[in-house]
Amino acid sequence: MSESKKMNLTTKVLLGMALGIILGLIFNLTGLNAKGTFVNEFVVNGAFHIVGKMFVNMLKMLVVPLVFFSLICGVCGIGDIRVLGRVGSKSFALYMLTTAIAIATAIAIAATLGIGQGLNLETAASFSGKDAPPLSQVLIDIIPKNPINAMANGDMLPIIFFSIMVGVSMLMVGKKAKSFIEGAEIANEIMMKMVNIIMALAPYAVFALIAKAVANLGLDLLASLAGYVLVLVGALMLHLFVTLMIVLKVFSGLSPKMFISKIRNAQIFAFSTASSNATIPVTMRTVTERFGVNNSVASFTVPFGATINMDGTAIMQGVATVFIANVYGVELGMGGYLTVILMSVLASIGTAGVPGVGLIMLSMVFTQVGLPVEGIGLVLGVDRLMDMIRTAVNVSGDAAVSSIVAKSEGKMDVDVFNDPTAGMFDTDEAMRIDPDVRAEMAQAVEAMHNK
Ligand code: ASP
Repeated sequence: MSESKKMNLTTKVLLGMALGIILGLIFNLTGLNAKGTFVNEFVVNGAFHIVGKMFVNMLKMLVVPLVFFSLICGVCGIGDIRVLGRVGSKSFALYMLTTAIAIATAIAIAATLGIGQGLNLETAASFSGKDAPPLSQVLIDIIPKNPINAMANGDMLPIIFFSIMVGVSMLMVGKKAKSFIEGAEIANEIMMKMVNIIMALAPYAVFALIAKAVANLGLDLLASLAGYVLVLVGALMLHLFVTLMIVLKVFSGLSPKMFISKIRNAQIFAFSTASSNATIPVTMRTVTERFGVNNSVASFTVPFGATINMDGTAIMQGVATVFIANVYGVELGMGGYLTVILMSVLASIGTAGVPGVGLIMLSMVFTQVGLPVEGIGLVLGVDRLMDMIRTAVNVSGDAAVSSIVAKSEGKMDVDVFNDPTAGMFDTDEAMRIDPDVRAEMAQAVEAMHNK
């Protein structure tokens, strides 16, 4: 396969994204997307909506079986429960640490710049909060009463728990379970193949998702909230390019430059879907095949991170808290800010990585520090765009911690990480079925029937 062909997918997806932004802007700025118009009803909220949703559903369709099978393989691959415990505690500690740093920096930046001071936006505010689950319930719910139910609902922590239990029990059963382990390996491979097929469709879906998001964006709102948006995006970029990369370098010695260049696909998927959970298949593929992280680590750290690690969301909470406190003239003080940090870190454990969940966490934080929850209404209009950006940061954090943990456990192929082309594929190749393989499969099925 030639180098230029290997570049196909990322280039195509970036092109889809650029075209989506351009078309979205045209629809938005020319008023073509006004309510009730043909473009609004049949193109933006019709065709683009359908294509985008179908694609996100396709990704979600993969998450549960992929996590289940790859974790079983992962546990069997590690084979030692102590190592499993180590991987678990290391990744938990790093996820919490990076989230705490993220929100602390965000608060420091926003407070220093005094965003929201002197603004009077109160009249526009309306938001009624929902509660994030209390920590005690989160702990209880890690154990599923019914694993099928957990899978049907896509509840990640109980699915992770059940899959690990299955893997560990398989190890204990030993020889007799060997064919089951082999079956799980094959199932995992099939799921990863499906990830490739779905990724090959991404350029078109990303175009539809981005065009719709941009067309529906309140650009005038963006301008009135420019201070909030700029500080938030600045803090997100600082975390992604500086903090996370320092953490990566210090804890693993891996090259931040290589990390940034290879994480792009996962970031684009996160940006387009605004969901860490839906991006799990792509993050998993990126860290295993592009970074060289062994599946035994990635199968745990990636879905775990998608659920409990939300650096970008924490940053949004920090900036939004300072912004709204200033708009309402509430003095939070050091104690208030510390409560915000603690609450955000805890809330990130109990809430899944799905679109808009950051706002739910924010309302919990506001209640705790006594800020008016309806104040969230002020930032609601720009939240979809901010959600897209912060989800890309969330997913980058998951991949960085996965790499650090894998490297420290000797479960990383550094040569793969340092090879710029490792794990790239070309879209035509991903969709191809080898004619010889097809014939072989047909023969095998026939032989089975004739038995
Ligand atoms: N959409 C984010 C995620 O999936 C969560 C949020 O900030 O709303 O990671």
